[in-house]
Amino acid sequence: MIGDEAVSQIHTTEGEKTMTGRLDGKVALITGGARGQGAAEVRAFTAEGATVIVADVLVDEAKQVASECGAAAVPVALDVTDERNWERVAAEIRSEHGRLDVLVNNAGVLALTPIETTSLADYERVIAVNQTGVFLGMRAAIPLMEGNGGSIVNVSSVGGLAGMPMMFAYVASKFAVRGMSRTAAVELAPRGIRVNSVHPGGVETPMLQELGLPPDLMTQAAPLGRLARPEEVAALVLFLASDESSYCTGSEFVVDGGLVAGVPRPSNLQF
Ligand code: NAD
Repeated sequence: MIGDEAVSQIHTTEGEKTMTGRLDGKVALITGGARGQGAAEVRAFTAEGATVIVADVLVDEAKQVASECGAAAVPVALDVTDERNWERVAAEIRSEHGRLDVLVNNAGVLALTPIETTSLADYERVIAVNQTGVFLGMRAAIPLMEGNGGSIVNVSSVGGLAGMPMMFAYVASKFAVRGMSRTAAVELAPRGIRVNSVHPGGVETPMLQELGLPPDLMTQAAPLGRLARPEEVAALVLFLASDESSYCTGSEFVVDGGLVAGVPRPSNLQF
């Protein structure tokens, strides 16, 4: 049965963890791998033994990240909104590697606008990357996982768990990712393909930096009082990609410094 083998690979007969890389022998594709969280995931995955396809529209940056990780990282040009691009990349993976074990749908864009001034083009652009891109990615990956099983990690957001002002299209797309992940999980479980969603809070990446928000706006919102480092999200994605999470599917994994748990304790509240 798919999954039992994975468990036996993690634990030796003595019950100790094996010393092998946590992703040894796995072939992974990470969208949006050229920078931010995706780049941190490329570094974490290759350090744990995976071969990683670094897929992005930012080809030069993808090449740079891949070159830092050695031969195990392979840059490819991919626009996640384009189904022909996905067909090409899937064909390349089949001919080079024969299969795919892990897909991380990480590519995303954010538009910060009030509802009434959000243009249809801006709305559709966010949906195309964050929502349609996830659909196209899963659709392309499933045949490459057939027979071996696999793990799909869809990067949503705390904006997929709660409403957020000025992020109408973004929140719509991230709630959709959550629903698509649950649906895919139940549909694909009999074929040994696990699907989970990840919900980061504020993360120190170019996405946030390019918004030009006051630095303390996001840090004050989270009870831990700071943004996440991309490596802290990558650690969770690595767990979900690995066989260590062999019984996790259809679940939502939050990495947000306590943001959705409740209101942060005011710094001037004394007892
Ligand atoms: P980022 O902007 O640094 O990286 C996003 C990457 O996606 C970039 O490399 C970009 O080129 C790529 N990308 C954008 N459109 C693409 C397309 N059409 N095809 C292929 N690649 C494309 O942002 P990040 O913070 O690393 O974001 C990663 C994911 O995490 C996104 O899905 C984002 O929505 C989500 N997220 C980010 C935060 C945050 O605070 N940074 C919080 C919650 C969730």
